[in-house]
Amino acid sequence: MTLSNGRSCLAIPGPSVMPDRVLRAMHRAAPNIYSGALVDMVPGIVEDLKLVARTRHHAAIYIGNGHAAWEAALSNVFSRGDRALTLSTGRFAHSWTGMARRMGVTVDILEFGKRAPVDPRAVAEALEADTAHEIKAVMCVQVDTSTSVISDIAAIRAAIDSVGHPALLMVDCIACLACDRFEMDGWGVDVMVAASQKGLMTPPGLALVFFNEKADTARETADCVTEYWDWRPRTTPANFSQYFDGTAPTHHLYGLREALDMIKEEGLEAVWERHRALAEAIWAACETWGQGGPLEMNISDRADRSNAVTTLRIGAPRGTQLREWVEANAGVTLGIGLEMGDPDDPGNDGYFRIGHMGHVNAHMVLGVLGVIEAGLRANGIPYGPGALSAAAEAIADRVGR
Ligand SMILES: *Cc1c(COP(=O)(O)O)cnc(C)c1O
Repeated sequence: MTLSNGRSCLAIPGPSVMPDRVLRAMHRAAPNIYSGALVDMVPGIVEDLKLVARTRHHAAIYIGNGHAAWEAALSNVFSRGDRALTLSTGRFAHSWTGMARRMGVTVDILEFGKRAPVDPRAVAEALEADTAHEIKAVMCVQVDTSTSVISDIAAIRAAIDSVGHPALLMVDCIACLACDRFEMDGWGVDVMVAASQKGLMTPPGLALVFFNEKADTARETADCVTEYWDWRPRTTPANFSQYFDGTAPTHHLYGLREALDMIKEEGLEAVWERHRALAEAIWAACETWGQGGPLEMNISDRADRSNAVTTLRIGAPRGTQLREWVEANAGVTLGIGLEMGDPDDPGNDGYFRIGHMGHVNAHMVLGVLGVIEAGLRANGIPYGPGALSAAAEAIADRVGR
């Protein structure tokens, strides 16, 4: 017997659940790409993306995934032979670094492990040692999706400024834009990359790069930039086709328009608050389970946890067993463990992740938690009692009457 028939739930950290409104907005005949509704709609999308990123500067849209956004950002900033510094809290910083190296940039990595955020003091020290100011940019990931740690971006900027270093600050917000608070201009971020399929609730396929005038000055001399990745025509288009250097991503744009409307209707701050409250319910349940069994939050300090994704450690092979059980028997897909670096567990079978980004509400979270508890029990994995009550209490206490 299986209990998975019914509406399934995707609880992985991207792609996230697509709202019916977004899907309906995309379900239409191919539009005219030379004039009319689609062409008229795009400038408003750009403005609203900037509202979500909290910037008054520039937003470029590419047809691509998060990796495309990474490459777009790198190519506009760097020349071959430039130096950069990456702050790593998990595998995504390493992937972005690898891409920069292949483009000819010399990148040093400052490693903070898989269970802690960036320590701004170490950033200040590393930049202070660069007396010739050769490091052109500091690259970091606000929320590393493999470890679920969040780093304090404002503190990183303050660390850079505290030693009078002119480096650009480039931030990957792909996992957490519109989930965790982010203030591009307020925090002094020069380049930010994001993608459509996580907090923005739109299918994978749109890569987003936000940049300010200081970053655009780097673009002036960057020799890695190529026609397709050049952010300038996309942000100052002489005609509509320059927004996308070719055919527009027609249906994705309708989907994104709807998703942005949903965010504006709820209010960005309320969207962040919803993510926070739901994350706290998940943490309450996981902490309670952990009191009577092997389950453990990867990030111990609440201040260092993302609102968008939670990484759990449960010991191999229990993580994989649990994921497979809830998918086959309860209609919930959980996220896999991703490069957690445990030599005894190369397949990451001792980990799983809960994605709670974008179109997520209390009943979805409580449902996911309920089936995880059923999966723990069915697989004979011990756990502390009362986790579901703790999650329900967290939600009730947060919302009140
Ligand atoms: C998902 C993600 C990426 C990669 O995005 P793709 O669309 O898979 O290329 C990069 N960085 C972070 C932090 C992510 O969460």
